[in-house]
Amino acid sequence: MMTNKVVFKNYGAQENWINGKYQSAKSEKTISVISPYFDQEIATIPESNFADLDNAVKNAQSVFPSWSRLNIRARAEVMFNLKSIIENNLDEMAELIALDNGKTIPDAKGSILRGKEVVEFATSLPSMLRGDSSPVGPGITCTMTQEPLGVVAGITPFNFPAMVPLWMIPLAITTGNCFILKPSEQTPLSTFKLAEYLKEAGLPDGVFNIVNGAREVVEGICDHPNIKAVAFVGSTTVAKFVYSRSTANGKRAICLGGAKNHMIVVPDADQDSTAKGLLASSMGSAGQRCMAASVAVGVADIDPIIEQLVEEAKKYKLGIDMGTIVSRASFDRINNYIDEAEKMGAKVLIDGRNSTAPDGYENGYWLGVTILDNVDPDWPSATDEIFGPVLSIIRTDTLEDALKIENGNQYGNAAAVFTTSGQVAKTISESASAGMIGINIGVPVPREPFSFGGWNESKYGHGDITGKSGVDFWTNLKKVTSRWPESNEAWKKYF
Ligand code: NAD
Repeated sequence: MMTNKVVFKNYGAQENWINGKYQSAKSEKTISVISPYFDQEIATIPESNFADLDNAVKNAQSVFPSWSRLNIRARAEVMFNLKSIIENNLDEMAELIALDNGKTIPDAKGSILRGKEVVEFATSLPSMLRGDSSPVGPGITCTMTQEPLGVVAGITPFNFPAMVPLWMIPLAITTGNCFILKPSEQTPLSTFKLAEYLKEAGLPDGVFNIVNGAREVVEGICDHPNIKAVAFVGSTTVAKFVYSRSTANGKRAICLGGAKNHMIVVPDADQDSTAKGLLASSMGSAGQRCMAASVAVGVADIDPIIEQLVEEAKKYKLGIDMGTIVSRASFDRINNYIDEAEKMGAKVLIDGRNSTAPDGYENGYWLGVTILDNVDPDWPSATDEIFGPVLSIIRTDTLEDALKIENGNQYGNAAAVFTTSGQVAKTISESASAGMIGINIGVPVPREPFSFGGWNESKYGHGDITGKSGVDFWTNLKKVTSRWPESNEAWKKYF
């Protein structure tokens, strides 16, 4: 029994979105989009080539002068409209996300609403981007404004097909840029809706474009001489590649990568909220999110908390509390991690392998809650990003050891501590090597206008992707210093 039914539909051959309408690609290659609920094709998208990207860039360049000169209040008006359109079409978009990504419909809705926060923040840009002005000498004034860059691009991952594009698009276009999106080829359907909603919201044709595809488009974005900035969100390997190649070509780039987030738990933590917090953080979106804390580091005896965690986990129902894994390949990869950890000696407290599929979705990629105890800090299940519903528990004797484990990981997206002690909370928040810290919160996503972004190998580039930092990323500072000499008498003839 599922509360929100995901309905199979084949959407057929999809196209790119250029200049305010769907357009077929020059490339004849296509990519099959598979629904993880049904293990069946639900659409095809073009595997675009460089010529397709170039076509989009040329179109975007031609509208950049008029869009960037439009005053910011008029540009922000599109965001006010977009907010209402997203709210009114939440069901439509969530159904598409569930179908191609595998989320449950409530989870999909929650992710869209998180993305909408950036749209709301973008409506405030007219007051934020007023610029600065100051008299700096006799008759001399300096003004400073934030100017758009030109044509810019975003490359996004499968796991939040609407939310992650919404981290980028509202700030990039409201600041006056024209935008090219390369969505994940695994989950493109909801991004087409975003394009349609932007048009309905009054966005001029050509300001927002979608070029579907895979590696060739990504490399093209890194190389294209007329793309000025690139935002990327995805795995660390590709983030590093896109960052190096884009910046080598003189572009500005911010590239968010993978994560392995730790939750440090001490015995004085509130048992009920900690057990539920650990579970929600590690299992939300079936563990397929960069903010999932997939390692719990227990300091001293936290057995009562773990016992409740296991009891709570037994209540989790596939199809209601958790959707599917995105693809057969990911499903196999995650199962291999569990098999390997078990062989190495982990105690499997809850085993999600071979879980029963919800009725009607027997072919889906279902993997249930998996909790591994007594994991060694050096095992792959403790160090690698598994990106599935797997929580690894590491036991330590001291807070210092727990911090060493957190600090020793290559990533640095988020970390959390569960405690009722102010001193423990302060120590962890000061010493954890991560960009986003939760105190008794397992998923410490900052709410707008606080910005989103990690540290270490979870992010390449300066600043964060949302908030004021995001606005700065999509703009150049222009400083104008002016002097109007009073000694010049010519003006007096007008009086
Ligand atoms: P991915 O890196 O496989 O794909 C991301 C994008 O890169 C896609 O558009 C894809 O087409 C493209 N791509 C993939 N392989 C490529 C290659 N070899 N060359 C050029 N382009 C390539 O990531 P994914 O599997 O879609 O998403 C999951 C990953 O994203 C996880 O690692 C997760 O942690 C990360 N993620 C990070 C954040 C964050 O904020 N740090 C947010 C969401 C997801």
